[in-house]
Amino acid sequence: MRYLAPEYVYTVQGWQSNTLIVINDDGVIEALREQHNPAGSECLEMPGVALLPGFVNVHSHVFQRALRGHTHRALSQSETFWAWRNAMYRAASQLTPGGLYELALQTYREMLAAGYTSVGEFHYVHHQPSGEPYANPNAMAEAILHAGRDAGIRVVLLLTAYAQGGFNRPLEEGQRRFSDRSVDAYLRRVEDLRSAGFLVGVAPHSVRAVPPEWFQPIAEYSRNAALPLHVHADEQVAEVEQCQAAYDCAPIELLERWGALSPRTTVIHATHASQVELALLARAGCTVCVCPTTEGDLGDGIAPYAELLTAGIPLVIGSDSNTRLDPLEELRWAEYSARMRYQRRRVLVRDELASPGSLLLDCGTRSGAQALGLATGSIEPGRLADFVAIDLSHPMLHGWNEQDLLDTLFFGCSTSVIKEVWVQGQRMSG
Ligand SMILES: [Zn+2]
Repeated sequence: MRYLAPEYVYTVQGWQSNTLIVINDDGVIEALREQHNPAGSECLEMPGVALLPGFVNVHSHVFQRALRGHTHRALSQSETFWAWRNAMYRAASQLTPGGLYELALQTYREMLAAGYTSVGEFHYVHHQPSGEPYANPNAMAEAILHAGRDAGIRVVLLLTAYAQGGFNRPLEEGQRRFSDRSVDAYLRRVEDLRSAGFLVGVAPHSVRAVPPEWFQPIAEYSRNAALPLHVHADEQVAEVEQCQAAYDCAPIELLERWGALSPRTTVIHATHASQVELALLARAGCTVCVCPTTEGDLGDGIAPYAELLTAGIPLVIGSDSNTRLDPLEELRWAEYSARMRYQRRRVLVRDELASPGSLLLDCGTRSGAQALGLATGSIEPGRLADFVAIDLSHPMLHGWNEQDLLDTLFFGCSTSVIKEVWVQGQRMSG
């Protein structure tokens, strides 16, 4: 057993002082006790520290970290998302298992230091550039998982299925290494990673990249194995239009038709989702992952935050292209972009009179953990002991009080207020 005695800890009841956290040898929270009783030398006193649950980054493409800052020059007159995608494909084409490990290790260290203790890695660069599998068909996935282990962050590998270059279109040159030869070959790789003990989810890339004859068995597999299913949808208007042209419906309607919506489903972006699509997500109990810094970088648009909340759809965050790694900024931009969209203050709130802090924290922690099928995201018995330790004496927090502390963090601070990060009962940085 280990004992932590922070000055403040954010539990399901809100901020608590004089609370002792008891952690067992598996790194799981065993109990919260009301006072700082003398537990002997194993009790770590943490004066001037407020503990929050570790943040959960639900959607990352780790290798895209290499593009940071390098895609803002105009490459052509018609600069669009799809031109950015070409730059991303060039970066993807150069990856090797060794190079991917190094890039992922560095990026995951940065991610962990920023306060993310778990990440959902939506991984699609699987095979050699020709499309030929490596001798170990999961060499690239394992490079990522080993980088996560060595960096000390928990990785849920969302193994991505990718089968076509667009609705009823063959793969393009740059997409060959994303694709398995068949849906069975893909599911075999999922199975191999699971039996090796890794945390895994399935991730049909999108309705444009995965046809129904792949989608349906993948959805069925996720149901039978109780695995998270993550999928991109409605990020770009062009994708919605192409879907309308091919199937006479919007992407999320197609997901419903293909049996891919369930409480284990997380839809990434949903930027251009219609009311009809949101109603389908709500009815099926799905989650939506917004990625505000990436959506801003790429000019995708602003998610229909107010409509998502009204529909009761849980929101979570992802750093996506890893153009920024800062959960406070990611969540701040969710609320700020929503304010600009609706021209009012306080959009991401639990009720009209609440401030955003507690809902933003929930999106960044508890709901995120649920979307990845992890027993973390809140500080309560039975959950993994994943924490960020906030330095209450940091100048950015000058003037804080208990009532406004979460709002002061989300609207007034960067991650430099994070003093330490803990994963499964172990201090990883600080
Ligand atoms: Zn993505």
